Amino acid sequence: MYRHLVYIEKNILNDNATKRVLDKINPQEIVIIDHYKEVLNQTNSHWHFNKKYQKIILAKRESEFYYKGSFLTSSLGYRHFYYNTLALNCIFHCEYCYLQGMYNTPHLVLFLNNQDFIKATKTLIKQHNDKIYLALSYDTDLLALEHYYPYCQEWIDFAQKEKKLQIEIRTKSHQVDRLNQIKPTDNVVLSFTLSPESIQEQYEPLTPKLDQRINAVQKAIQRGFKVMLCFDPMIYVSDFKRIYKDFFDKVFSKIQANSIDSVSIGVFRMNNDFLKRIRKNGNRSDLYFYTYEVKNSIATYSEDIKKEMLLFVSDELKKRNIFRIHIYE
Ligand code: SF4
Repeated sequence: MYRHLVYIEKNILNDNATKRVLDKINPQEIVIIDHYKEVLNQTNSHWHFNKKYQKIILAKRESEFYYKGSFLTSSLGYRHFYYNTLALNCIFHCEYCYLQGMYNTPHLVLFLNNQDFIKATKTLIKQHNDKIYLALSYDTDLLALEHYYPYCQEWIDFAQKEKKLQIEIRTKSHQVDRLNQIKPTDNVVLSFTLSPESIQEQYEPLTPKLDQRINAVQKAIQRGFKVMLCFDPMIYVSDFKRIYKDFFDKVFSKIQANSIDSVSIGVFRMNNDFLKRIRKNGNRSDLYFYTYEVKNSIATYSEDIKKEMLLFVSDELKKRNIFRIHIYE
């Protein structure tokens, strides 16, 4: 993250939230812009070069405070599945992440009018008779941003009062201590994505190590948070079965199966247009040299490989007494 320079939309320059975030970043230079898209959507820019000098853009979202859930994600059994985008792009860099193909640049946009998102969600809740599921950490890793803006804290506080709302905060961050001041509530699930060490090293280089993430899971459980473990996306590496079996042995020697709410699993998949764009941007990961099958514009492994992976992993989880498994097929 390149914190010497920060872009700020002129309409929020004097807001208290802006001042608080600026105090934390302490940039040497501020560039005032009309709209975050001027920077985020720059054309003719080199994505990977910009990632090295990833900048922060402070902005205000004017509309689209939530979206209907994408069919690329598991709806976890909820009829009313939504997500919102409190920030765009991520401080981490996972090779398999669709964000590389979604925006022209990797610059991190933080929307500082979080309370407008909460207000819009209150209205959304009133429109439904049954519970709605809201995934917060979409298009970013929200917990990793908590030191800039207390997004998770404000949403968990809100969820305490809104029992018709179920929130999921998915993360690879190990910064659970940032939530120490918050009282856990049953309708918020912290969903920790874990990957085998070799996969983390190769495909998730900027993320915390597996041990750090397991440690974060343990802390979250001790604090009383509802925890989901997310093994998604799983990557079809050679020796897949041995690698994942060893991985589950390690994870479940440190985390008791009955202390987690559920597990979510899925294999690598991506919108094919994003995949093409990522290849064009020059990502040289072997992930982008694999021949995927494309169905309904989604690139993923062949049916046979996918079935083999999901079946193997489901069986391994059941052997470890994990039966609440959400499978993205
Ligand atoms: S942590 Fe999530 S959002 Fe961030 S780069 Fe990795 S996959 Fe993308």
